[in-house]
Amino acid sequence: MSDCLFCGIVSGDVPADLVSENDAAVSFRDINPAAPTHVLVIPRVHLPNLAAVGDAEPDTLVAMLRLAKEIAESEGVAGDGEGEGYRLVANTGPNAHQTVFHAHLHLLGGRPMGWPPG
Ligand code: 5GP
Ligand code: ZN
Repeated sequence: MSDCLFCGIVSGDVPADLVSENDAAVSFRDINPAAPTHVLVIPRVHLPNLAAVGDAEPDTLVAMLRLAKEIAESEGVAGDGEGEGYRLVANTGPNAHQTVFHAHLHLLGGRPMGWPPG
């Protein structure tokens, strides 16, 4: 989609602090981090939210989750030790604070997390 910010990051037209990628997904650091580690994992294909990815391209959803796992490991938050543990968040719909309508997972880590989320 030509007017989509995250499609622009996938194509390279919009600069981003890229972290890693695979055939189906790309990851980059959030411009307004909510935790010491805050990486966005997005599909290369334009779909409006994670539910749509699961419906249209289940293999892409798996690729996003695999990439997220690798990022958690490389960021040092995958384990159970001090400062470790992470959260994957998929805000879905404007009432759930989705602001960019190209599917994305937030990978948040590096600080203690409360529950329930705000
Ligand atoms: P949402 O609110 O849709 O779940 O998450 C969108 C995320 O995209 C927000 O955390 C926001 O900070 C991030 N974001 C918005 N614009 C940009 C941008 O131009 N570059 C990067 N790296 N992140 C962005
Ligand atoms: Zn898009």
